[in-house]
Amino acid sequence: MNTIKSDSLHTLLKGVATLPSLPSIALRIIQEIKKDKSSLNDLAEIISYDPALTAKILRIANSSFYALPYKVDSIERAVHILGLEALKNIALSFAIVKGFKRNPVDEFDHELFWKRSITSAVSAEMIAAKLKMKREDTFVTPLLMDIGVLVTYLVRPDDYLRVINKKRASSMSTSEAEASVYGFDHQDVGSEILKKWGLPESIYMPIAYHHNKKDCPADLKNMVDILMLADIMSSVYHGNKSSRKFSELKQLLQEKLDITDIEVSEFVDQIAGKTVEILTSFELDPGDMKPYSQILQDANEELGKLNFSYEQLVMELKQAKEMAEKLAVEAWEAKEKLREVAIKDGLTNLYNHKHFQDIMDKELPRVERYAHVLSLIMIDIDYFKKINDTYGHPQGDVVLRAIADIFEQTVRKPDTTARYGGEEFAIILPETDIKGAVVLAERLRQIVEKLELKLGDKTVKITISLGVTTYDPGRGRKTKAEIIDAADKALYSSKKTGRNKLSIVM
Ligand code: GH3
Ligand code: MG
Ligand code: MG
Repeated sequence: MNTIKSDSLHTLLKGVATLPSLPSIALRIIQEIKKDKSSLNDLAEIISYDPALTAKILRIANSSFYALPYKVDSIERAVHILGLEALKNIALSFAIVKGFKRNPVDEFDHELFWKRSITSAVSAEMIAAKLKMKREDTFVTPLLMDIGVLVTYLVRPDDYLRVINKKRASSMSTSEAEASVYGFDHQDVGSEILKKWGLPESIYMPIAYHHNKKDCPADLKNMVDILMLADIMSSVYHGNKSSRKFSELKQLLQEKLDITDIEVSEFVDQIAGKTVEILTSFELDPGDMKPYSQILQDANEELGKLNFSYEQLVMELKQAKEMAEKLAVEAWEAKEKLREVAIKDGLTNLYNHKHFQDIMDKELPRVERYAHVLSLIMIDIDYFKKINDTYGHPQGDVVLRAIADIFEQTVRKPDTTARYGGEEFAIILPETDIKGAVVLAERLRQIVEKLELKLGDKTVKITISLGVTTYDPGRGRKTKAEIIDAADKALYSSKKTGRNKLSIVM
């Protein structure tokens, strides 16, 4: 350790003196542990001062953790079965956890801290058993390996909250974040404080290296390995990178033990059950700590639910989109209808007078600009008054519609066929010269002439008179009124000269 680091660590450790001391029973157990030869009677006596501790120890001895085939009902029996050293360590663990647990709820999650520590302790025991490296202090060492975190927090809470935030905000490990804030980490603090408390080297030395295997003395490597594995196991259950930690753990366990993926999963699952049992003994709420495979399964189910609701959401969105599209189509159709109503004649469904005028206004500038031609046909039904008079006004309407239908079917789409008024019609023919207009006019005249319209029991023959004009801006400018007037004059001429015919006025 460099000087600056050891100086600041020394200052921190001086602060520890201000902390509430360990319960006297823990101190007395530590005293016992320090003795080279401690007797069963001495330890039994110490423990018996605390009936709650006695009960807890018996609970541990009878737990599935030790899987004894018979019930342990006294500390003496527990000592025989578990061994004096193991019992000392269990007692110490209880005493320390109890000593620190007095802290009120604050920004540091004490409950989680001890849950993690106990999960590590249980994991270490089980890993060590698998590796056939179990020792008396296999439980207590991982239980205390992060004690430096807790102590630092208690002495310098603000600094430690900075560490927590720094770790969250970066990809730093806890040790790196600690070192960046105050120059040393919880390995240093933990091992120093445990040394100060008088715990044996076999406990505080591996703790000094539990995140730093590469610098650790060879004789500590096995224990450090166990601590590291136990730490990762604890992160699988309590950390926020569970699946990454699980993969890491699986790889490390498979390097050390010749076990299959399934065996790894089963082993990791076992940790949960054992930990819940031990947590209860430590009067810590195990919460809903479930086997890891169960956590995964639940997560998958949640994911499934999420997928389901996602699909539902997509479906609802699709439906909403379809509905919106349908509404948009309906709105468009309604608008189109309105537009049609505004521009069409209700009786004949041809364009109305207003629209005729609008199209003329729109077409004429184009004709002028591009030197095109435009023709106009004006049509009037011959003796229409007589039809009304003979068959009645409604039958007159039938005739108007029949004529309109003929126009509609005969005239091309780019042309505009309008009811000009009464029994008068007008057809605008853009880009059509006089020859084309005359051909169309004559065709219409002939079709109408051939029409045999049934009005009741009578067959009615109808004729139309037509006036045709063409506007060619190259031969002199004309206004809209002048063009219409020319067509009208031509129509009048047809009427004057016998009806059922067409006339041209240019
Ligand atoms: P001409 O051959 O000289 O055109 O004689 P006409 O009888 O067709 O001409 P006139 O202008 O004297 O009569 C047009 C008639 O058309 C008068 C009017 O009652 C009738 N009329 C106008 N609009 C409508 C309509 O919407 N429905 C019906 N049934 N008749 C209409
Ligand atoms: Mg008429
Ligand atoms: Mg008329």
